[in-house]
Amino acid sequence: MSLLITLPKRSRIDPQTIIKDKRKWIEAKYNQLSKRIPIIDGDQLLFNGEYYNLEEKHSDKAFVKVSNKKIILSTTSNIDSKTLLRDWMTKETWIIVDKIVLLFSHKLGVKASNIRVKRTSRWGYCKRSGELTFNWQLAGLPRDLSEYIILHEIVHLSEFNHSKHFKRKLESICHDYRSREIRLNDYNSSP
Ligand SMILES: [Zn+2]
Repeated sequence: MSLLITLPKRSRIDPQTIIKDKRKWIEAKYNQLSKRIPIIDGDQLLFNGEYYNLEEKHSDKAFVKVSNKKIILSTTSNIDSKTLLRDWMTKETWIIVDKIVLLFSHKLGVKASNIRVKRTSRWGYCKRSGELTFNWQLAGLPRDLSEYIILHEIVHLSEFNHSKHFKRKLESICHDYRSREIRLNDYNSSP
């Protein structure tokens, strides 16, 4: 985790003074964020809301296998475990994104201009151009939470705000969206 201080151009403020003044707030924020559940935690990976031990083995074929509480990363001389895991999680996230987008875009009569799954510090976002972007680690979350994020962004295709209209539309396809939103705060999204 890092702390970034952004100052206006030609500012005379000393960053050290800000750190001193905001120390309490910074500490509280740090404690809050560090308590969040990470998707990748050392040699453990959260997948569909459950932790699996990551096990790496070297072979002549690259693949990922999910078995009873274990995820085996079979690496080769061409692909390391980090790349293999990222490619696999990205693919798993695409499967969920594709399914939900297909089901609900039609229902709401909307269409994304483009969809991306990539490294981003947020879980997901929608651009005015109609492009939807999702975090590649989305597949780590419990399924109802990853689905909530996708539904939230799909609704933004017709309501580019968080107005009453937006909430009503979201509620019509995800009646318990409020409790999912709250539970999502327990998880740490990282790029
Ligand atoms: Zn939103």
